[in-house]
Amino acid sequence: MATKASVDALVLGAGPGALAIASALSKEKLRVEVLAANDPKDPWPYTYGIWGEEVDELGLGHLLEHRWVNTVSFFGAGSLEPSDDENRATRHAHDYGLFDKRKLQQHWIKQCDSASVKWHRGKATELEIDNFFSTVTTSNGIKLKARLLIDATGYEPVFLKAPNHGPIAIQTCYGIVGRFNRPPLDEGQFVLMDYRCDHLTKEEREEPPTFLYAMDMGNGRFFLEETSLGLSPPLTLEKLQSRLDQRLAHRGLEITSLEHEELGLFLPMNLPVPDLKQPILGFGGSAAMVHPASGYMVGGLLRRAPVLAKAIARAMLDKSATPADLASKGWAALWPKELRRKQALYQFGLEKLMRFEETQLRSFFIGFFELPKEQWYGFLTNTLSLNELVKAMWTMFVNAPWSVRWGLMEMQGRELQLLWKFLKPQK
Ligand SMILES: Cc1cc2nc3c(=O)[nH]c(=O)nc-3n(C[C@H](O)[C@H](O)[C@H](O)COP(=O)(O)OP(=O)(O)OC[C@H]3O[C@@H](n4cnc5c(N)ncnc54)[C@H](O)[C@@H]3O)c2cc1C
Repeated sequence: MATKASVDALVLGAGPGALAIASALSKEKLRVEVLAANDPKDPWPYTYGIWGEEVDELGLGHLLEHRWVNTVSFFGAGSLEPSDDENRATRHAHDYGLFDKRKLQQHWIKQCDSASVKWHRGKATELEIDNFFSTVTTSNGIKLKARLLIDATGYEPVFLKAPNHGPIAIQTCYGIVGRFNRPPLDEGQFVLMDYRCDHLTKEEREEPPTFLYAMDMGNGRFFLEETSLGLSPPLTLEKLQSRLDQRLAHRGLEITSLEHEELGLFLPMNLPVPDLKQPILGFGGSAAMVHPASGYMVGGLLRRAPVLAKAIARAMLDKSATPADLASKGWAALWPKELRRKQALYQFGLEKLMRFEETQLRSFFIGFFELPKEQWYGFLTNTLSLNELVKAMWTMFVNAPWSVRWGLMEMQGRELQLLWKFLKPQK
């Protein structure tokens, strides 16, 4: 069995998580190799959205392929009774963008190539760790050695371990790109959440709520996606598809040409923070970096990769550091106490939202988007400090109607456990 010479870091995977961290490490002049089951240039299966201001602050606005200024949500009147307010739009006054997936991928690959990052093809199958190196065996029988292993193989990581905190909330979506007999949205519009449910019967409105995420893609094409925020067990795709059909029929909309159908999209929203004592690191979905309230991650990857890479580069200066020492420094930079406390609060919030019935949920979101812009935007992008996050959540609670306040106060399931984690995060 061939063994390759050791390097500083071996990154597993070729999704956004792996490419973001490989590129940031290579910027720190570390010797980096990447092992991925697929070609890193293969097109990614998903489209990635991000707030305009977020991508601008990163200086990467040029990586967007679409940008919408007219960004709205619909939460109806928040009551069961028919009302004139049903079609009232909540205006977000924040641009929203979709990445050009190829450009984003190239952005990271170009940096890696300029720093001579070495690419290996194959599946990681076995891992051995001693005091000096992590050694990964690939499906092709090659052994790759590195001072530090970073497992970025997504939501079911090949080596990374996480504690079991019970059922995982899964976001599910059913989406289509197509043309319609008439425009389903205003021209140039982006809809973050359309929770209107006048197309459902009273009984159906007692079932788990879903919303429409939608955008005008230009030239008469629209992307519409029926989404369940998060549930355990997840809402089925058949249910989402029938909800979308009902929504369209109620508005007199017919698909005249179906270009693309997105099936089988499952996103775990509240994965526990991995075991921070393990001698390997994670990044991306494997390391629970997805935002538990929004399901977004790419902005977080772009912000957190340079911080983590700098901490790893500093730790590597100690030539006697073991893989466990390096990983420990890395975990401290990736998941500092403040972030872990915020994560517990976010997960607490998600538990609450998953229990809310439809009218409570709609009232909750009406109140959420009435928060000052910097609070709701900071909440959704995970850019508030812990104190600011607590303040935003408290303001939300104080301003909420009683139906929502009761729901927020009543502790069920693992909510108390999550509040405890907020007070005393895992070491
Ligand atoms: C449907 C959906 C929509 C999303 N939309 C957005 C959005 O709009 N905005 C946003 O910011 N985020 C979004 N996300 C969240 C997040 O950005 C994505 O899930 C992202 O793809 C996660 O990146 P990742 O690199 O961690 O994992 P993945 O993209 O899953 O990549 C994992 C990689 O690991 C490789 N791999 C797996 N096993 C092995 C192995 N044994 N050896 C070697 N390689 C291996 C795979 O081939 C793959 O290259 C969305 C997620 C989903 C599921």
